[in-house]
Formats: sequence, C-alpha cells, structure tokens
Amino acid sequence: MSLAEHQSPAPRIYKRVLLKISGEALMGDGQYGIDQATCERMAHEVVDAVNAGTEMCLVIGGGNIFRGMQGAAKGMERASADYMGMLATVMNALAMQNAIEAIGGRARVLSAIPMVTVCEPYIRRRAMRHMEKGRIVIFAAGTGNPFFTTDTAAALRAAEMGCDALFKGTQVDGVYSADPKKVKDATRYDRLTYHEVIARDLRVMDTSAISLMRDNGIPIVVFSIHTRGGLADVLAGRGVCTTISD
Ligand code: UDP
Repeated sequence: MSLAEHQSPAPRIYKRVLLKISGEALMGDGQYGIDQATCERMAHEVVDAVNAGTEMCLVIGGGNIFRGMQGAAKGMERASADYMGMLATVMNALAMQNAIEAIGGRARVLSAIPMVTVCEPYIRRRAMRHMEKGRIVIFAAGTGNPFFTTDTAAALRAAEMGCDALFKGTQVDGVYSADPKKVKDATRYDRLTYHEVIARDLRVMDTSAISLMRDNGIPIVVFSIHTRGGLADVLAGRGVCTTISD
C-alpha cells in the first residue's frame, strides 16, 4: 500500500501519554526564550488532558534558549555545550511547572541531572507514583548525557514510564511528504509505519527516538501543538494527527 493510501486509524484510548514539545514552541512569536502567554496556553492543554482522565508526562526541549550544536559550531567543546543545552531544558521545565500550578494543575519537575535545591532528581519509581496520583511529571535535562537530544529523552522516558503513546506536538497538524509551509501540494499522512518514516527520512523525530519506539511498540502521534484544544481532541480520537506504528 502506498503512503497516500493509508486509512485513518480507529480512535485509540491512551491512558498514559508522554508529550514532547520543542523549546521553540514556548517562544510564541518571539525569537528567543519563554513567552509567558504561550506557556500558559500549553499548560491549559495538558491540564485539560489530565482532567479528562489521561496520565500525562512531558519532555520539553531547550532550543528556545541554547542548543549544544550551536555552541560547538562557535568553538565550544561539544559536551560542555550540550550540558548547557540540558540546563536550558530545566528552565523550560520550571516555567511549565509554574504555568501548570498557576491554573490549578499539579506538576513535578524531575531532572536527569540532580539539582536538589531546584527540583527532584529523576527516579523512575517516583515518577510513576506522581503520575498515578494525577500529577503531571515534567522530565528535565534530557537523558542527562551529552550527544543526545530531547527527542531521544522523550522516547526513553515514554518507554520507562510504560506510556501508551508518545505525542509529539509540532508546528503543523501531522507528518507531510514535504514541508507544507514551503510546498503547497504536500501530502499529509494519517498513518505511517516506523519503517516508512525512517526510510523516507520524514524528519519527525531523531532516528534513534523512532527506533526506540518501534522496538517497544509505542505509537508516535504527531499533532499541532498550536491548535487550541488539539491535544484533548486527539486524545479523544477526533483530532487531526498522524499516527506512526507498525
Ligand atoms: N541535550 C543533550 N542531551 C540530552 C538532551 C538534550 O545534550 O539528552 C542538549 C543538546 O545540546 C540539545 C539541547 O540540550 O541541543 C536542547 O535540546 P533539543 O535540541 O533536543 O531541544 P528542542 O530542539 O526540542 O527544543
């Protein structure tokens, strides 16, 4: 079956979900850093999902503040630059925790790099307990290792937490054959296999993240993080998205 012939998937029930958003998604219309209003809107999306009965955890990137590759390109040692990138994700995580709590949600930041005066260290069982109690767990500092990305961190935590899906919130409402902002007749897919995404280099997430999800049979759901109510709609099986599975 060709890619374009894939049928829409039947709605699935996801009890526990990891949501990955890039740091850039927090910038709003700005060019750098955290836009408070955007952060609040994202917080509403996540809190609404929890109120509707889904256990949620989050991985937020750091690209709105610092990317290791950029530092390395300017002559920094790559590992040090990557640690700076990981610290940027902690700032985003704290901003999101604050925004969630400001609207009455409950959240905990758990960092892969221990910094106990700022947030809890990442302990898998503790994260599980928080989620069982309905708290939103925000995983900060990526995997805690340089030379990785927050996409891989998201896949790793989704597997560790036994998530039913990895949701990737993006600028557009799914995976397209080409960048829909540049190519007018780009095709949007309702469904793809892991293999198709990797073989066609569709650049949804890092290849290592996709492989990890394939090996663990966890579907990746790509949807627009900028559509109001988009997360709740996709969780309820009525939103627009691309589902990547076997
Ligand atoms: N990073 C890292 N190890 C990880 C996760 C992230 O070294 O496990 C660093 C890396 O330098 C990366 C930066 O943190 O560039 C920010 O993460 P990412 O680029 O994935 O953020 P996003 O593009 O999602 O905003």
